[in-house]
Amino acid sequence: MKINIPSVTIKRLSLYYRALLESRKKDLISSNELSNLTGFKAAQIRRDLAYFGQFGVSGKGYEVEVLKKEILKILGIDKEWRVALVGVGNLGSAFLSYKGFREQGFNIVAAFDNDVRKIGKTFGRINIQDISEIKERIDILSIKMAIVTVPASAAQSIINLLVKYSVKAILNFAPIRPNVPKNVELLNIDLSIELERLAYFLKRNIK
Ligand code: NAD
Repeated sequence: MKINIPSVTIKRLSLYYRALLESRKKDLISSNELSNLTGFKAAQIRRDLAYFGQFGVSGKGYEVEVLKKEILKILGIDKEWRVALVGVGNLGSAFLSYKGFREQGFNIVAAFDNDVRKIGKTFGRINIQDISEIKERIDILSIKMAIVTVPASAAQSIINLLVKYSVKAILNFAPIRPNVPKNVELLNIDLSIELERLAYFLKRNIK
């Protein structure tokens, strides 16, 4: 049976996992300790973890290693995901250079651009390919996840291509709200919106 977990819970799970990695505890950790590490209320943490069954040791807390493994499994990051990146400009090339994604189980295995000056160049381990080859590469490498770092004007058509070639999860950095079918998960990351939130905070709190 598939349970529908709210996306805020999923986001908190990632934060619990990071806290567990950083925690010096090796055996048991209580929800209160996790609360101190993450800033979320202990009751919230217990509710979140209860979605996925009982892995607490009654009255004592959670076994750290078991909890880490369970969260990895729940988030689907107990295996490596192959990721395609489209648009090797300022942002795209920074993502290609960042080693952390791979360490966290997200392996960018293919990168595409339509600029002839970039196609064929190697970036880290990755050879930049012509966008016209995207279908073949996605098929061969069984890619289901993609990062889109093209200009806004090109983003919807690139996302349409990705959807057509069976990519099911897309992280979009272009400042548009693209349309995707219901069976595709799309996350739009708009850094300006986050900066606007910070500006609002500063305006209210700093005189
Ligand atoms: P950029 O112009 O440096 O890079 C875009 C890349 O996409 C270029 O290499 C270009 O050749 C490629 N491209 C364009 N059309 C394409 C197509 N049809 N197929 C394949 N490749 C194509 O841009 P950037 O600064 O890296 O920004 C990328 C996106 O991220 C933009 O939508 C931008 O608004 C957004 N963004 C950028 C930043 C930033 O700090 N650079 C911050 C927030 C959001």
